[in-house]
Amino acid sequence: MIAEPPLPGPPLDCPLCPRLAAFRVQNRTVHPEFHNAPVASFGPRDAQLLIVGLAPGLKGANRTGRPFTGDYAGDLLYRTLLAFGLAAGSYERRPDDGLSLRGCRITNAVRCVPPENKPLPAEVRTCGTFLAGEIRGLTNLKAILALGRIAHDSVLAALGCRPSAFRFGHGTTHDLPDGLRLIDSYHCSRYNTQTGVLTEAMFRDAVATARQSVTPAAVPTGQRSRG
Ligand code: SF4
Repeated sequence: MIAEPPLPGPPLDCPLCPRLAAFRVQNRTVHPEFHNAPVASFGPRDAQLLIVGLAPGLKGANRTGRPFTGDYAGDLLYRTLLAFGLAAGSYERRPDDGLSLRGCRITNAVRCVPPENKPLPAEVRTCGTFLAGEIRGLTNLKAILALGRIAHDSVLAALGCRPSAFRFGHGTTHDLPDGLRLIDSYHCSRYNTQTGVLTEAMFRDAVATARQSVTPAAVPTGQRSRG
């Protein structure tokens, strides 16, 4: 089978956000073994579901180079995707663990790690160019699961939708004008789960809603019944 070419994304030395580019350079000095570059999306090009997070965590995706891999948020996300048949294999917090995604793909609103996990609005807007390209490039896309308000707003901006027409709310589903469905969840961060903002049951419900937007044929037989 011929592998599909990757969707265009930012170069490893993307200079468009000076603050984040400087932070990458700083991190290369402190943690030379880390990825320390924009983190590419993960998952098949024919995905029907796109999961959009906020940004790489310093010692998570920024370290390993795969979205949500290596920190608490990834533990919850990948455990849930495996339970719903949206992933196969085993998740071992490293990019060579053999885990694959089924019918879904994961990206971030901001591809570079921001200081204190807080991208500036201008950085979110700038990297939105790549999110828009990602969404345009996924020709089978039916639904997007936005993890957090910034991801929600970034998706709307990428699609040219008015934020006031689609307000963020955990568990809320929005039918967008172009036929895409947007499902909101609080971000599956350690902070949100430790403070009780998001329980594992709440997160499972949001993923279940998103899962229903993917046609059964998109998830291989034998992977469908655990959710
Ligand atoms: S956050 Fe996005 S736009 Fe900004 S420097 Fe990184 S890859 Fe480039």
